[in-house]
Amino acid sequence: MKTYQLGTPKSLAQVTAFIARSAPDADVRVMGGGTDLLGEIKESLIEPDVVVNLKAIPELAFIRRDANGLAIGACATVADLAADAIVAKDYRLLQQAAAVVASPQLRNMGTVGGNLCQRPRCWYYRDAATVCSKKGGSQCFAEKGRSKYHAIFGGGLCWSVYPSDLAPALIALDAKVVLVSAQAERTVPLADFYAPPIVNVRKENTLARGELVKEVRVPAPRPGDRGAYIKFMERGAWDFAVVSAAVRLTLAGGSVSEARIACGGVAPIPWRIKAAEDALRGRSVSESAAAAAAAKAAVDARPLAENGYKVDIFKAVVARAILAAAK
Ligand SMILES: Cc1cc2nc3c(=O)[nH]c(=O)nc-3n(C[C@H](O)[C@H](O)[C@H](O)COP(=O)(O)OP(=O)(O)OC[C@H]3O[C@@H](n4cnc5c(N)ncnc54)[C@H](O)[C@@H]3O)c2cc1C
Repeated sequence: MKTYQLGTPKSLAQVTAFIARSAPDADVRVMGGGTDLLGEIKESLIEPDVVVNLKAIPELAFIRRDANGLAIGACATVADLAADAIVAKDYRLLQQAAAVVASPQLRNMGTVGGNLCQRPRCWYYRDAATVCSKKGGSQCFAEKGRSKYHAIFGGGLCWSVYPSDLAPALIALDAKVVLVSAQAERTVPLADFYAPPIVNVRKENTLARGELVKEVRVPAPRPGDRGAYIKFMERGAWDFAVVSAAVRLTLAGGSVSEARIACGGVAPIPWRIKAAEDALRGRSVSESAAAAAAAKAAVDARPLAENGYKVDIFKAVVARAILAAAK
């Protein structure tokens, strides 16, 4: 393993200054809990020159409600989120998503910022000897290779799937992320934070060099808002999603006035399914309406040789999440 310099700043200002001082060509990585980053380093997938540990910065580890809704610091742990009483009461789908991330040990160590910026679990990407398009190669080996767990939407240059449970939940809640660097701070919708392989096949988000996630902001719930998160796993527990669906419905007078649905495990980035949202708007929620909405979204699916089974699971999980949200 290549030796790297470890920085442990004590404030956010020290972090951004530390990063800004690094050599222009240095590979600098920030670390939350390290549950993904350290694995990547140990498996020689990345060879950073500098690792900046964020865990010693108290100002990044918070969950609080303010006039605008919920604010979650990048270093709040997934366990903190799952156990938070306000989250459980007002943002049920987010609490449900946090509670099914990985295992208790990983939820205790893993941070919200790290969960949103984790890398895909594709077996070709995770094999150091395989130089796929995500690592600078010229092809995605899943396209004609083993594709059981790969994308059914948004593939092409890369068919990996985005593994985060928090990302689809927060997108369904219209969350924004606050990004900070030594030069500036900007706030972007989480949905726009992720970018498909066609934009940049090497990474899944739009973080600029020297930028990091500072916090996540979730708007206050509107009257009539309900939500649910459903995750289908092969192993039943402590596993990544084969397919997950986060649904937020705003109900008015018995019918859906607004819907947001985002899925995990189906595309290289969290996948919003606007066709299903449109199909629900103006309708009351029933088994047939939920199934019809899910079927509309599945029309765009382009499965590979070994993952056609995911389309049926996708339809079932989306329909179940719609029904659960309306309860
Ligand atoms: C066996 C296993 C099972 C798992 N199962 C699931 C699962 O079911 N669902 C799920 O959602 N996740 C799952 N995970 C992922 C786990 O939840 C993540 O590893 C964890 O949330 C990442 O948090 P971390 O703080 O440890 O990130 P780190 O490992 O510290 O960082 C991960 C990545 O994010 C970057 N990063 C970290 N913090 C920031 C920041 N503030 N700003 C910008 N970039 C940042 C790092 O540079 C790195 O690239 C699993 C992981 C493992 C190892």
